[in-house]
Amino acid sequence: MYNDYKTHLDGIIKEIKEAGLYKNERIIVSPQGAEITLDTGQKVLNFCANNYLGLSNNKQLIEAAKAALDNHGYGMSSVRFICGTSDLHKELERKIARFFNTEDTILYAACFDANGGVFEPLLAEEDAIISDSLNHASIIDGVRLCKAQRYRYENANMEDLEKQLKLAQAQRFRLVVTDGVFSMDGNVAPLRQIVDLANKYNAMVMVDESHSAGVVGEKGRGVTELYNLMGQVEIITGTLGKSFGGAIGGFTTGKKEIIEFLRQRSRPYLFSNSIPPMVAAAGIKMVDMMTGTNELQDKLHTNAEYFISRMTNLGFDIKPTKSAICAVMLYDAKLSQEFAANLLDDGIYVIGFYYPVVPKGEARIRVQLSAAHEKEHLDKAIKAFEKIGKKLGVLKHP
Ligand SMILES: *Cc1c(COP(=O)(O)O)cnc(C)c1O
Repeated sequence: MYNDYKTHLDGIIKEIKEAGLYKNERIIVSPQGAEITLDTGQKVLNFCANNYLGLSNNKQLIEAAKAALDNHGYGMSSVRFICGTSDLHKELERKIARFFNTEDTILYAACFDANGGVFEPLLAEEDAIISDSLNHASIIDGVRLCKAQRYRYENANMEDLEKQLKLAQAQRFRLVVTDGVFSMDGNVAPLRQIVDLANKYNAMVMVDESHSAGVVGEKGRGVTELYNLMGQVEIITGTLGKSFGGAIGGFTTGKKEIIEFLRQRSRPYLFSNSIPPMVAAAGIKMVDMMTGTNELQDKLHTNAEYFISRMTNLGFDIKPTKSAICAVMLYDAKLSQEFAANLLDDGIYVIGFYYPVVPKGEARIRVQLSAAHEKEHLDKAIKAFEKIGKKLGVLKHP
């Protein structure tokens, strides 16, 4: 059997390679940070990590994790409801709820699991999920596991959302679900309008704050802070794997009855190991740091504004953004790859994205800003962008 199957896989892999869509992994031999070392020995400035607050290699988090290794051991060897709950898990859940001004939190091994395990227990065949067309893969998969009726609206398009909400009046309960920040454009979901429409058409709201927590809003509380809606959406999901330290872990936070019910019925919670104590301890430290001072959030916002305004002034076509994601539009797939390769030669690590990751004709370079970046890092990147932009003729006013 396997020989036939191998031929089958080899064929598909060949097609992927011929289409130029084969994903190669670059190997990093240093900690994650503003500057990283590749296995080739090359040192590059990193503008493609989700390390928005620079916490991936933060000394205080590392110390907190080390202390937990000493006093709580390495792993839990259990799901939460058998013997996988430590005091650290409970404390982190409380702190995340306080951070988002919600009632309770349930931890998962990843946000992929939080989204995978949220819809199926909460909604049934007679209910409706109304989902943004650009929502993350984990939301799409989570919705697939649920028997509720599915409605889809065009990305951040409020006319279309209203249309779908009208159609969904036939169902018993309705849940509108959106990413807080969409990862390819960096645009923020129009949550104020979403909540208004949800109120008008009797629906609940869920926001995935994975790319927005720690980033969006003056204090980094995410999209609910930006629109002054803290405590007003029923469900928030998020990750510990991006701005919140970058290790591993996810969560759902929101109304306490919803969280209570998820602890009873959510399958990735009931049937998967709990996060290691050291990750919970570092998470607690992370929330404490972000509550005690606004230093990192402020630095991230300053960096993002600086980078985006300089790049715009140089004549780059930048998608409007309120996040730390900056899409430098090039429109041409080949150009995006050539541009990124040139940048890497100059020590700037970014990724060029093109169809099918983004729509046809919308190829781009995605730059992710971080509080780990110093001004000299930003200036070096801007200079490289300018040089290569001139060379490849993409500046609007060269
Ligand atoms: C990254 C991301 C996830 C997955 O988070 P993990 O904790 O890495 O599984 C889920 N949703 C969105 C919107 C994301 O950007």
